Amino acid sequence: MSFVKSKVNTTPIEDTVFAIVKKAKEAKAAVGAENVVDATIGSLYNEEGTIVAFDSVFTPYNNIPKETKAAYAGSFVGNDSFRDQVYNWVVKPSGCSLAHSVIATPGGTGAVAITLSEILDEGETVILPEIAWGSYKLMATMDNLNVKTYSLFEGDHFNLTSFKETCKEVMKTQKKLLMIINDPCHNPTGYSLTIEEWKEVVAFLNECGKQVPVVLLNDIAYIDYAYDLPHSRDYMATFDAFSENVMAVIAFSCSKALTSYGLRCGAAVLLGKTQEIVRGVEIVFEKAARATWSNVPNAAMDNFTYVTTENYDTYMKEKAYYVDLLKQRSDIFTSEADACGLAYYPYKEGFFVTVKIEDNALRDRYHEALMAQHIYTVKVNKGIRVAVCSLSVDKTKGLAKRMKDILNSL
Ligand code: PLP
Repeated sequence: MSFVKSKVNTTPIEDTVFAIVKKAKEAKAAVGAENVVDATIGSLYNEEGTIVAFDSVFTPYNNIPKETKAAYAGSFVGNDSFRDQVYNWVVKPSGCSLAHSVIATPGGTGAVAITLSEILDEGETVILPEIAWGSYKLMATMDNLNVKTYSLFEGDHFNLTSFKETCKEVMKTQKKLLMIINDPCHNPTGYSLTIEEWKEVVAFLNECGKQVPVVLLNDIAYIDYAYDLPHSRDYMATFDAFSENVMAVIAFSCSKALTSYGLRCGAAVLLGKTQEIVRGVEIVFEKAARATWSNVPNAAMDNFTYVTTENYDTYMKEKAYYVDLLKQRSDIFTSEADACGLAYYPYKEGFFVTVKIEDNALRDRYHEALMAQHIYTVKVNKGIRVAVCSLSVDKTKGLAKRMKDILNSL
C-alpha cells in the first residue's frame, strides 16, 4: 500500500554530495584537516575554511526591523521594489529591450521549478545539458516529464550541433520546446558561451519558433562571479532578436550573488517580444507561486534591493575580493592541470572545475581512489567536480598533479 500519489517515483534521492561531505568531515577528524583535501562543498568559503557571509549583506539584514521580517511580502509575485531592482540588476545592463516581468521565487530553484511544471504537460520532454546541476532531473521526474540531453562540448566549445539535433528530435513528437542553458559560469564545468555562440542559439530558436512555441530557460545562478563582470550580461542583448514564438525565463539566485543561500530568495525574469506574451506566462506563474510557496521572504527581498542600490559600492568591493580569490584558485588548478596533462572541461569562470572522465565506470573507480588518498570530490556525469569555491589556495596547489598521478595509477 502506498500513501503518496500513484504517478511518483518513490526511490529515495541519491544525495551524492552530502554522503561525501560527511566522509571528508570524518577524514579530517581521523587524520587531521591539514592532511585532507575537501573539494566537495558548493558554497563560497574563505581561506580559513569558513562559509563566506558578506558583511555588506548581513549587517544591513540584521538591521531590518523585526516587523519587516515578520510581515508577508507585498504581493504573491514579490515586492515591487524587488521586482524592479532584479530587472535592473540582471537584464538592464545588457540593453535588451524585450517586454518583461519579474516574479520573486524562493531561490533560483523556485524559478526553475515553476518553469518546468508550468510550461510543459506531463509526459512531455525537457531538454537539459548532459552534464548539469542534479536538481533539473529531479524536478523533471517530480513533474512526470521526460528528459533529453544535449552534449555540452565539441572540443573546447559549446556543442551547437548536439543542441540543435536534440531540439529537432524533440520537435518531431512535441508541439513545444523547453530547454535549459545554464550560463554563464555553468555548474559544474565553469563554461560560458561566447556572444557568437549565443547569437547562433537565438537564430536557431527562431527557426524552431516557426514550428512550435519555444521557451529558453536560462539559469544564471552564478552570473555575479563571472570574471569579466561588466560584460557578463551582454549576451542578453542577443535575445532582442527573438521572434514572437520564442521567449526566455531567466532564473536568478540571490543565494550565490549575495552569499545568502538560506534566505531563499531569487526570481524568474520573463522576457518576450510583446507584453501579451509575457503576461500570458506571468498569470500562470503567479498562480503557481501562490499555490505552492505563497510568499518569498519579505526581508530578503528588501535586503537585495538595499544591498544592490544604496550599499552597491561596499557590496561590489567585498564581492570583488572573492571573485578574485576564485580566480586565483581556479588559475592554480587549471594551469597545473595543463602542465601535467590532467584533462578538464573547458573552464572559463565560476565555482567549479570538472575533471573530464567520460567513462562513468572509470570515474567511479577514480573517485574511490581519490578518497583513499584523502582527496574528496563530487561525482558528476562524465566527470569529477572540484569545488574551487570552497578550496583554499594552499590546498589547491599541487592538487592537479596529485589527481593526475592517481588517475595514472588506475
Ligand atoms: N542553478 C544552479 C545551476 C545551481 O547550482 C543552484 C544551486 O546550487 C541553483 C540554480 C539554485 O540555487 P538557489 O535555489 O539556492 O538559488
